[in-house]
Amino acid sequence: MRVVFLGPPGSGKGTQAERLSAILRISKISTGDALRESIKRGDELGRKAKVYVEKGELVPDDIILALVEQLIDEAGGRFLLDGFPRNLNQAKSLDEYLSGRDWSLDRVIYLRVDRGEIVNRLSSRRVCSQCGAVYNLIYNPPTVEGRCDKCGGALEQRRDDTEDVILRRLDVYERETAPLIAYYAERGLVEEIDGTGAVEEVFERIRRALE
Ligand code: AMP
Repeated sequence: MRVVFLGPPGSGKGTQAERLSAILRISKISTGDALRESIKRGDELGRKAKVYVEKGELVPDDIILALVEQLIDEAGGRFLLDGFPRNLNQAKSLDEYLSGRDWSLDRVIYLRVDRGEIVNRLSSRRVCSQCGAVYNLIYNPPTVEGRCDKCGGALEQRRDDTEDVILRRLDVYERETAPLIAYYAERGLVEEIDGTGAVEEVFERIRRALE
């Protein structure tokens, strides 16, 4: 199965793709996670990507495309994509890359959440500095304040989850990424899912849509 998760930052793409990946035993490919890991390691990719990620701007396509092609090959061609494609050029390049291997996308899950809710969600999001587990101080708080339930690691705020960067990321989403909904809808691939409510409820909607 080959699925793309689309939706604004903070719509729950990463959380939902993670769940689905565990159930279907298909790799989740998250460009955002891969970039953050590289930035943490300080490798070449991380050094190139850091300024863009911290400002909430898109990392240049050539860098991202090389990364994604490598990750798709490592995943053996079955994948859930989280955070890619982010613009029309990336979407077209993905199509070309897949068709070169006789593959195609099966479905696009579009998680719909409105702008006001996104700002609330992202400003209260916290991430484990050790294992990357994601929490929300309002909707999904950790049992012990500031500590990860899974590994006990310290929770921190992503550097791009500050209000000014959140607003920039939302603008980038609306300008560059939202047009992909129509691009994929033309091919009948889009499942529009209400992304509000509890994580479990949203997951149930996704499961039903994929049946
Ligand atoms: P995310 O974790 O998906 O919200 O991504 C965090 C940041 O990583 C974004 O704001 C971009 O700077 C960068 N990024 C992630 N995926 C892409 C992509 N497909 N194209 C360009 N930049 C990306």
